[in-house]
Amino acid sequence: MDTIKINPGKEGDSNIIDDKLNKADNGNTIDDVFDVAIIGGGYSGLSAALLLGRYLRPTIIFDVMQSRKSIIHGYLGFEKTPREDVIQKAWKDVLQYHSVKRIEKKVEKVEKDYDNNFFLITTATTKENGKDDDMSKSRKARAKYLIIATGVEHVKPDIQNFEEFYGNGVWHCPHCDGFEATNKKLAIIASDNKNNEAIKYAKTFLGWTKDVKLFFQRPLNQNNGDEISYALTEEQRNEAMALGIDLIENDELVKIIGNSNTNAIEGVVSKSNKRYEADVLFYHLGQIIHNELANQLGCEFDEGYLKVDEKQQTTVPNVFAVGDIDTDRHYAILAAASGALAAIHIYEGLLKDAIKITKVESNT
Ligand SMILES: Cc1cc2nc3c(=O)[nH]c(=O)nc-3n(C[C@H](O)[C@H](O)[C@H](O)COP(=O)(O)OP(=O)(O)OC[C@H]3O[C@@H](n4cnc5c(N)ncnc54)[C@H](O)[C@@H]3O)c2cc1C
Repeated sequence: MDTIKINPGKEGDSNIIDDKLNKADNGNTIDDVFDVAIIGGGYSGLSAALLLGRYLRPTIIFDVMQSRKSIIHGYLGFEKTPREDVIQKAWKDVLQYHSVKRIEKKVEKVEKDYDNNFFLITTATTKENGKDDDMSKSRKARAKYLIIATGVEHVKPDIQNFEEFYGNGVWHCPHCDGFEATNKKLAIIASDNKNNEAIKYAKTFLGWTKDVKLFFQRPLNQNNGDEISYALTEEQRNEAMALGIDLIENDELVKIIGNSNTNAIEGVVSKSNKRYEADVLFYHLGQIIHNELANQLGCEFDEGYLKVDEKQQTTVPNVFAVGDIDTDRHYAILAAASGALAAIHIYEGLLKDAIKITKVESNT
């Protein structure tokens, strides 16, 4: 299995970080230990990579490309731009810096080499087009710092015609897309009753519309698919009623109906075959947090999210976590900001180490 090498010929190497930290005893540049490995090339990972490129830091970024048809809202400068356009532009911005290397592979394993004080990152084996060639082989990289930027996945409702209207009348994030519900008939599917999540979620929309129907769906146990038995409390039912939220329990939605010519949803149908008028549908069925790699390193979690400090550093030194994986606030601009924050702190850490060595050497 080959170890991935740093790109040759970056923009500059006349700096104290490369002099003091990235040279072997014989004076040659170390070419197989990156300063930083980033896992995940979404908003947060790319934002970290952009700054690290501008800091001239040898950086490797792994990503499994997942295209997603959605339009971005609330991201300054890119309002209503297709997500794919933003991400493609971001990759172009990042890869203009020669110290950043991109590997389009899924990372399967991360471990710490305590003797040499670096992380070892191993990618999965892929058999693209059924071929077992060099491209499909597992690869390894070494890095002093790790940034985990693997994001979360929102559980989608198992409902007929969902994909047809997803991102076009059907959304999950109120802060990103709640505006689309302005003065409209809103149907909501929500399950998570822990911490009053279902009602809390429905309440968020009252700033856009007063016509809210909440279809309460019992959550599924992610291990065995069984329904979890908790239901809404009387207090929660009373709260919904007081706020004018029309609560529908025990009659889950099974189908979205709409006009395929205008691409607009017209209503929803429930298990009992009842049809409800709706212009927009939102859902809140929990999320899968991609925390497998952080688990391998022994990072601590808080309610499923990675625990980080004000520098975005996890409870394991030199392991940073950014984006959706460390917070329940899932917005592109916050994800990008956290990536930048991690990059700044990593740069400052490297600089501090290099300055320390320089001072010690100048005193001897
Ligand atoms: C349908 C939809 C619409 C949205 N609309 C908006 C909006 O309008 N405005 C807004 O602000 N926010 C919106 N969001 C939320 C926003 O997209 C997220 O907050 C943001 O993407 C989080 O960025 P991230 O970098 O943490 O994760 P992501 O953008 O999810 O990126 C994670 C990346 O890591 C990769 N990855 C995961 N595991 C591995 C691995 N093991 N190895 C290699 N790569 C890996 C994934 O393939 C992915 O590319 C939306 C989300 C969705 C799902």
